[in-house]
Amino acid sequence: MSTENQLQFVIEPHANATPADQIAAKLVNPAFGRVFSDHMVTIRWTEGTGWHDAKVEARRPFEIDPACAVLHYAQEIFEGMKAYHGEDGKISLFRPQANARRFRESAERMSMPQLPEAAFLEAVEKLVDIDRAWIPAAEGASLYIRPFMFASESFLGVRAAHEYIFCVIACAVGPYFKPGKSAVTVWVSDKYTRAASGGTGVAKCGGNYAASLIAQTEASNKGCDQVVFLDAAEHKWIEELGGMNVFFVLDDGSLRTPPLSGTILPGITRASIIELAAREGIAVDQSPYSFEAWQADAASGRVKETFACGTAAVVTAIGEVRHAGGEFRIGDGGEGPVTQLIRTRLTGIQRGRIADPFGWVHHVA
Ligand SMILES: *Cc1c(COP(=O)(O)O)cnc(C)c1O
Repeated sequence: MSTENQLQFVIEPHANATPADQIAAKLVNPAFGRVFSDHMVTIRWTEGTGWHDAKVEARRPFEIDPACAVLHYAQEIFEGMKAYHGEDGKISLFRPQANARRFRESAERMSMPQLPEAAFLEAVEKLVDIDRAWIPAAEGASLYIRPFMFASESFLGVRAAHEYIFCVIACAVGPYFKPGKSAVTVWVSDKYTRAASGGTGVAKCGGNYAASLIAQTEASNKGCDQVVFLDAAEHKWIEELGGMNVFFVLDDGSLRTPPLSGTILPGITRASIIELAAREGIAVDQSPYSFEAWQADAASGRVKETFACGTAAVVTAIGEVRHAGGEFRIGDGGEGPVTQLIRTRLTGIQRGRIADPFGWVHHVA
């Protein structure tokens, strides 16, 4: 069974699925990443056989050998996406084909087998379908979907593994930020970098996150919510946050964002904002921007707003910036009008509140 057309999903529903009243209780203010749905989808890959054993079953622990390759050499990639109850009464995903493509590209970089995009999409849809009762209805809430893949072969030799497990799990999530909080504070790391030229910055792999956690801890210690990483070669150019891309709003109303230079994760939210801006008549300049210029432009008023974007937090204003040499504020420290416009348009399309002229919304039957 090596081609995608032959991949048949076996469905074994949970024998003891969570009753509706218990799900309802769990969906009240779920903490991020803790309230998991009942099922998972798995597909296995073995050298010589290809993709096989596609299955929807009760969510349960994996049994892995202590020599499991991922535990030693970190061949692991993931995706993050959300399922919503749209205002139109339908369950929808946002641009899932883009996640499927990026997952293949991440796999290629990490010497892992490339799951056909149709199989990725089917796995996600099957999980959303069987666990639809776990999609919260509250404003700003959603079912966060986590497709991932890891090297499962028991072997300590250093080479690409010959066995992998692809899996999709889901968890109910509320709004990313606490109510009343309209902007975040960021820490600009002058010590740690996230990705170097020729490295794995473009791949959505767990290893990038492992490398970024020390900077995130440093940020927390400085009272900041997130880290802004600069480029590895010169420690000069703004790249992105630990898990979000970044945009600047200039005083002429245009946007600026660092280019996809090979060390930045190509965010689907980032790409969508660039398309959305074009339609709104807002110019977007994708060119390198230095930390020094950001600081000077914030002081002179040339930069009016700055925001971070990604699936988890969608669009989030950056109000304050701290670094080894001091701190500065962007605008009045809250969410500015352009950030608000983009956030409102994007979430409006995602939630089915406004028309989707791009064909981004994907309904789950
Ligand atoms: C996932 C991720 C993003 C955001 O990508 P989206 O597709 O918009 O969710 C940005 N930066 C990093 C490092 C990421 O891992």
